[in-house]
Amino acid sequence: MSDTAIRVTGRCRCEKNPVRFEYTKVPAEVHYCLCTDCTDISGGAMALIAVVERSTFRITQGESKIHNYDTKPTCHRRFCSECGCHMFLYVDAFPEHLLIHVPTLDRGQDIGAKPDRYVFVNSKLAWLTLPDDGLPRHQGWANSGAPVEV
Ligand SMILES: [Zn+2]
Ligand SMILES: [Zn+2]
Repeated sequence: MSDTAIRVTGRCRCEKNPVRFEYTKVPAEVHYCLCTDCTDISGGAMALIAVVERSTFRITQGESKIHNYDTKPTCHRRFCSECGCHMFLYVDAFPEHLLIHVPTLDRGQDIGAKPDRYVFVNSKLAWLTLPDDGLPRHQGWANSGAPVEV
């Protein structure tokens, strides 16, 4: 095992036979996403997302319960069809990666990385004040340009 090998587990909210999944490599990044798509679908002012390599991710239980909903032609979101939990998504911009909603990871475990940036701050709600945590803030995806002041 390499020094970046880990095992992080997550699940939907079903009490019986939940969808379970895991990844086995430290995430490439963990970002707060403020895009309207993430905020609207999750009902939060921002979403906390772990970006993991697809090849290190697998569904370990309940795969037949997973339902896809494309919130945009390029954004493929996976929900549990029974409890409605939105667990992870694929975006065409990152074909080799999967984006996991961190709150669906089992609590109390080390997820392999800490939040390291804010993305899509151009969509930040006007009344939301970001903490003074020194993390870079990007207008779109992190590769969309230099960080901005927000
Ligand atoms: Zn469920
Ligand atoms: Zn987003």
